[in-house]
Amino acid sequence: MRVVINDQNIDYIFKRVRRSRSLRISIKRDGKITVTAPFFVSAKQGEKFLIHNGEWILEKLKQHKEKAAKSIFPSSHKDFLINKSRALRLAREKISKLNVFYCFKHAKVTIKNMNTRWGSCSKQGNLNFNYKMIYLSDELAEYIVAHELCHLSEMNHGRNFWKLVARTVPGWKILRKQLKNIN
Ligand SMILES: [Zn+2]
Repeated sequence: MRVVINDQNIDYIFKRVRRSRSLRISIKRDGKITVTAPFFVSAKQGEKFLIHNGEWILEKLKQHKEKAAKSIFPSSHKDFLINKSRALRLAREKISKLNVFYCFKHAKVTIKNMNTRWGSCSKQGNLNFNYKMIYLSDELAEYIVAHELCHLSEMNHGRNFWKLVARTVPGWKILRKQLKNIN
């Protein structure tokens, strides 16, 4: 069945269930909507109930879509364990390469499974990287490492920081933008 909520066509399944006592809406991850109703409830009443909860439904559908868009990369714990050492090799390789120029001293290099960040640099000089950088282009991975490496010298994102980054990654501006569009 179909209703229109805020100019959006919403398809759903109306299902009567013997043991059900009240109307219920369920939304699956793929966006499939089911209205479950007791036997005494008509399809029209089901539709009304759906429209009444329209805002909530649209919000849920939006959330599901956003989540789906984010999962371009696998990010399970299992995937992390499988690829952790590969990511560490990549990070170390890039650090060695870039440090021929910078010669910065760093402490530990750690690989983490993060959702919103690609890397970080602590006050103690520890460098952390997101294991998912193995799924990025070589250019982007190198930019991420250069970025964190430069924080060893400049802890902020001021002009001097970007000058420093530009010494090894002249195209940092475009790469930074690209990275913002990836999640
Ligand atoms: Zn930074």
